Amino acid sequence: MLFNIHTHSEHSHDAQAKLDDLCEQALKEGLLGFAVTDHCDCECAADPKAFTSLLDSWDDCRRAKALYGDRLTLACGVEIGEALYDPAFARRVIEARPWDVVLGSVHAVRVPGWEAPFSIMDFTDCGEAFIRDYMRQYFDDLYEMASTEDYDVLCHLTVPLRYLCGKYGKRVEIEGYYPAIEEILRVCIARDKTFEINTSGCAPDAPHFIPDEAILDKYLAMGGRNLTVGSDAHVAERLTNGLEQAAEMLRSKGVTVLTYYLNRRPVKYTI
Ligand SMILES: [Zn+2]
Ligand SMILES: [Zn+2]
Repeated sequence: MLFNIHTHSEHSHDAQAKLDDLCEQALKEGLLGFAVTDHCDCECAADPKAFTSLLDSWDDCRRAKALYGDRLTLACGVEIGEALYDPAFARRVIEARPWDVVLGSVHAVRVPGWEAPFSIMDFTDCGEAFIRDYMRQYFDDLYEMASTEDYDVLCHLTVPLRYLCGKYGKRVEIEGYYPAIEEILRVCIARDKTFEINTSGCAPDAPHFIPDEAILDKYLAMGGRNLTVGSDAHVAERLTNGLEQAAEMLRSKGVTVLTYYLNRRPVKYTI
């Protein structure tokens, strides 16, 4: 049985899933449990809803815990996006409730004029040099977040590729960023954080992991052993998308123990 560390409910601005539907889906699909990790987008800190929606998510998750807790392990968490944009806001959110797990993510990059989330940016007319600078800044931001901010799980390393390559057909030679990626892995391991294999890009017959296996191999070769899987589902139907594929791939590399969090403490389980 698997634990899904990364899901979004209707308390995220870009998700529609009712928490009860996520729970029913988890029971139907035989999950050990999942973490509700609604978005805390630090670039939106000025919007009062950025904070109150997370308190709503917490309340909803506590309610669901009472309802489903004997059949499912539910973790009430939060996904902090680009904490560097407003570290005080990130701290305020983290301290507001005794979360089970805090995900650390970067969805927007500190490139002047391009600070909005990459999921909503139009990269159509961007040339190679810009894309190179943008990716370099992504890894710099992620490194700074990973080394200075408060989080438990480092999420979806290399996720801008989904947009730059997947949506806009840009070419990115990821090997050129391996030194930067290794620095991020090193700090993740040194701080005893957990490394997410994000399965949101998986199709039933085409596994696609974020990050890819070559980067996972680096993590393992560097001695990293704290791994977790997350589907990043925004609708109930995608709750378990790719999780079994990730587990199978991990087992093939000798990884048989994964991590989830309760009360911000790691819990190990065998797959
Ligand atoms: Zn994310
Ligand atoms: Zn997410």
